[in-house]
Amino acid sequence: MSGHPIIVWFTQDLRLSDNACLSAAVAAGRPILPVYILDDTTPGEFAMGGASRWWLRQSLASLASSLEALGGRLVLRRGQALGVLERLIAETGAQGVYFSRSYSPWSGEQEKKIAAHCAAEGLECRRFSGFLLHEPEAIRTGSDGPYKVYTPFSRNCLSRDITRRPRPAPERMNFYGADVAGDSLDDLNLYLGKPDWAADFPKRWTPGEAGAREKLKHFLDNAVGDYDEARNLPDVKGTSRLSPHLHFGEISPLQCWAATSHAVASARGSIDRGAHTFEKEILWREFSYHLLHYWPDLPNEPFKPEFADFPWLQDDEKLACWQQGKTGFPIVDAGMRELWTTGWMHNRVRMIVASFLVKNLRIPWQVGEQWFWDTLVDADIGSNSASWQWVAGCGADAAPYFRIFNPILQGEKFDKRGGYVRRWVPELSGLPDKFIHKPWQAPAEVLVAAGVELGATYPRPIVDLGETRDAALAAYKTIRKPDAA
Ligand SMILES: Cc1cc2nc3c(=O)[nH]c(=O)nc-3n(C[C@H](O)[C@H](O)[C@H](O)COP(=O)(O)OP(=O)(O)OC[C@H]3O[C@@H](n4cnc5c(N)ncnc54)[C@H](O)[C@@H]3O)c2cc1C
Repeated sequence: MSGHPIIVWFTQDLRLSDNACLSAAVAAGRPILPVYILDDTTPGEFAMGGASRWWLRQSLASLASSLEALGGRLVLRRGQALGVLERLIAETGAQGVYFSRSYSPWSGEQEKKIAAHCAAEGLECRRFSGFLLHEPEAIRTGSDGPYKVYTPFSRNCLSRDITRRPRPAPERMNFYGADVAGDSLDDLNLYLGKPDWAADFPKRWTPGEAGAREKLKHFLDNAVGDYDEARNLPDVKGTSRLSPHLHFGEISPLQCWAATSHAVASARGSIDRGAHTFEKEILWREFSYHLLHYWPDLPNEPFKPEFADFPWLQDDEKLACWQQGKTGFPIVDAGMRELWTTGWMHNRVRMIVASFLVKNLRIPWQVGEQWFWDTLVDADIGSNSASWQWVAGCGADAAPYFRIFNPILQGEKFDKRGGYVRRWVPELSGLPDKFIHKPWQAPAEVLVAAGVELGATYPRPIVDLGETRDAALAAYKTIRKPDAA
């Protein structure tokens, strides 16, 4: 179709279904030019990390083939989004730019500049929602402020009927006919595969809209009923594993919400509890973005300012042990190795490894946040920063700093039989359950029988849990509390 196009700028909405932006462009009746821009400049230190880049490459390939099936072509470009869009407008004589809203701290300013450029050129600029169920501005406290506490926030969200139905994918689209130059996926240098640490990712993940739909269906058909309990057990596939799909917008939270409600209605009560808990987890994601919207420094600065004076330590050797899963604490090591091998880690274990880093090693939470940023396929500016601050005790509605997880007790409680540890730390697999979370307490003959030689086949603990706990609590006492003079 010829004529001046509307640019549909895909952001974190890499899907055709329930995409308000795309549906509006189709309804506008003008030719559509679908574009994705890899912008490594505007986010600064939060440019996409390695694991996310692996995911994005597959996800863009999937989106491109869905558009091709409808007769279109996804144009890929690199550079600062504003400049790239200005050039595309000039090249094609575009009549407008449509995009889905992003909530990263750097996005608001950029979106304003794009709107200003369109206004100056007399072009239509439209921004759509879809990444969240509730816009941050829509959920306000009784005194018309933002929420700092999750429970009243979630109550407010739950009091609102979500009656919107997810939109179906467009069956037909009219694409801009002229040839527009773009980069190839290879040109984007998204993931070079050297060293190929992501070799195992394809066995575990199917990025793209169809993969997301399948994950949701599998979860609702098989796991949602037991979610309330099973979600805490890392050895059980008890959670949805939708996080990277939600992060890249391959599925919308509304689609998850609507499918869960439908499953509840069809199951007649048997899955109510699990489904409700699952919905509340989706609201944690909303809460993270609520916080990020009102406190855009969240990825870098402690929400509780008194933590700016916290006496953190720098210890590169111990940091490397943590990153490589060689701390000598089996549940911590299992989590860090699961992360490295799969690009994902179970939520319970994320809390354990994060607590170990910020409390037992006293390494700043931002250092852990950065490591996760590079290695998680679901690395997400809202959920990652809010969760790290939560564990570190410096966030909004955070776990109190003095509540320090003991990795042995956490392991014994949530990985009772040690199945998770045995999978990710196979050199300990011969140990009996009694010692799987504390191999250094096993008698010599038990270690020999299991083929474990501490300090050789598996590290000795890199810290003393009791001493580091006391030191952390002493460090916490040194910071000025808000109610102190
Ligand atoms: C230190 C730390 C860092 C984290 N970093 C990230 C991150 O970068 N990206 C990310 O998506 N999640 C992060 N989380 C939150 C949580 O661990 C993951 O969302 C969850 O493990 C994803 O698995 P799932 O999809 O199977 O979750 P499910 O249990 O199936 O939950 C469904 C969805 O709800 C959302 N959700 C669940 N728990 C949380 C939570 N605590 N906070 C915010 N959203 C939540 C996710 O979108 C998830 O996909 C982090 C948690 C911790 C403790």
